[in-house]
Amino acid sequence: MNTKQIIDLDMKSIWHPCTQMKDHEKLPIVPIKSGKGVYLYDFENRAYIDCVSSWWVNLFGHSNDYINSKLKEQIDTLEHVILAGFTHEGIVKLSDRLINLTPKGLDKCFYADNGSSAVEVALKMSYHVHLLDGKKRFKFLSLSNSYHGETIGALSVGAVELYKKTYSPILIECVVAPVPQNDGDVEFALKELEKILDKEGENISAFILEPLIQCAGNMHIYSNFYVKKAVQMCQERGIYVIFDEIAVGFGRTGTLFAYEQCEVVPDFLCLSKGITAGYMPLSVVMMSDDIYQKFYAPYEHQKAFLHSHSYTGNALACACANATLDIFENENVIDKNKELSKFIIATMNNLSEIDFVANMRYKGMVFAFDLVGFAPNRRVGLEVFEAGLRVGILLRPLGNTIYFMPPYVITHDQIKYVFDSLKTILKQIKY
Ligand SMILES: *Cc1c(COP(=O)(O)O)cnc(C)c1O
Repeated sequence: MNTKQIIDLDMKSIWHPCTQMKDHEKLPIVPIKSGKGVYLYDFENRAYIDCVSSWWVNLFGHSNDYINSKLKEQIDTLEHVILAGFTHEGIVKLSDRLINLTPKGLDKCFYADNGSSAVEVALKMSYHVHLLDGKKRFKFLSLSNSYHGETIGALSVGAVELYKKTYSPILIECVVAPVPQNDGDVEFALKELEKILDKEGENISAFILEPLIQCAGNMHIYSNFYVKKAVQMCQERGIYVIFDEIAVGFGRTGTLFAYEQCEVVPDFLCLSKGITAGYMPLSVVMMSDDIYQKFYAPYEHQKAFLHSHSYTGNALACACANATLDIFENENVIDKNKELSKFIIATMNNLSEIDFVANMRYKGMVFAFDLVGFAPNRRVGLEVFEAGLRVGILLRPLGNTIYFMPPYVITHDQIKYVFDSLKTILKQIKY
């Protein structure tokens, strides 16, 4: 098929995620034929640097030779098996490795097949443990500006209005504490949290948060001290803490997991996205043996956690996840990223001379800035996106926030190309 045929057939048959489809009357969808490393190639063999890691999932480049080989091995062995009553080698290895990589208190793995489902598991399970302890705590606590996915439960605990407002009448009850805006704001945010806990604490099952970076909330980076204190305050009151590390896990914040920088251990840890380095849908919720034991009883006591997804613990996905962990182990990724991160910061700083570039921020392998001072209805982020495509860089701004969250295999030359191109693009934009 050629580009036009694909676009026509696509527009006839596909409703794309998170998209006003009418936008595609003006802005054609981009058919991708293949990928290698940080590059995606279209049907005219134009290359695009994937600056957003294909929605934050890719870690080691497209069509990575090592992961490909492990996936091919697995595909000739076992593609999938029901995980209720059965198990397989890939998933037991993966679970053992995840437990060894995380501290005591994260001792068991419960699998699902995407990020939102992991959040649903953690929400239901935290409510259910309290119930088993004879307490009905029917509310959840989350932070302003948070994002946890778009199924009904996950949407309920999120706070990005754009995704939420239409559905608010059908969502579950949730209390929202303010996320610190900056380091000067931490004391205030903790006081507000305390007020909420004093008033509502008894009714709250769990506090869910994205530690250190609220990615969908315009890459808002906030204090690790706040996270530490907030977690302690909740745990002291018997409220479970759920860390949604779906976006930030696997090295994005500079450590393998974000909780490492907060000096606390959550009661539930949700992982997805990078877990398979962008190859296959998979997610896992980790929790303590204590929580696990509360559900462990003779069947007729009706204490089992009866939650499942058809593709839970898929064998191909587990093979990709094991290959991903191999790469972290064998290639010193976290240390190498530190150097890469410094280089990106220095390169991005060249954009600060542009008047309307503001709030430059970064942590680990996440980099962002805002385009400010434009008329409220102007979609300047979209203008940058379109201009980026013309010079072979794939950005997908969040509103007027431009972010750079590349695969970890990106080279210095490619980084330079991205920021030189961005500078040219931004300089051509007029107020
Ligand atoms: C992407 C994301 C989710 C949802 O994961 P899906 O796989 O898209 O359902 C949840 N939480 C955070 C922080 C995310 O970035």
